[in-house]
Amino acid sequence: MNDELFFEAHAENLRRQLRIDPEIFWGNEAIYIVKDINGNLAKGIYIWENDIDLVAVREVKSIGTLAHEMRHAWQYKYRNENNFEFEIPQTGFIKRLLQRIKYKHNYSFDKRELDANKFAANYCKSVGLFNESKRMKNNIVSNNIASGLMISSYVMLLVLGCVIYNFVMTV
Ligand SMILES: [Zn+2]
Repeated sequence: MNDELFFEAHAENLRRQLRIDPEIFWGNEAIYIVKDINGNLAKGIYIWENDIDLVAVREVKSIGTLAHEMRHAWQYKYRNENNFEFEIPQTGFIKRLLQRIKYKHNYSFDKRELDANKFAANYCKSVGLFNESKRMKNNIVSNNIASGLMISSYVMLLVLGCVIYNFVMTV
């Protein structure tokens, strides 16, 4: 089976498993469509702000990425049953920019990202794609490391704040 058919077969399988039916683009077409909407296509994307039924994946071999983005589409569709929060997109350039920055900042702790990576790792394992499963698992690990670093830097700031406060109070 060639890569494209392999990709299409997994897309179908995921549509059925997740009870969703988004339009799925891959390769150059995906890059073109994403550029048209919003900018750059990393490995894959689900841009619910622009289109709740659009999934784009750069490489047909990235079944893990496909599963990850499909899970985002599932999260959005069934957000009320599963308590997934999707903030209403801000209008206006500055507000929108701030919202993006906030999302980037929270990315590593984001419940949606963790859930999508876990789902993708399990899906790939269940269909015997062990390398892809590992790649998705590594995303979870790096998310955890990022969260850990962020938390420890907050703790350090807090400690520093206390030290300065003490110093000021004792002078
Ligand atoms: Zn994601």
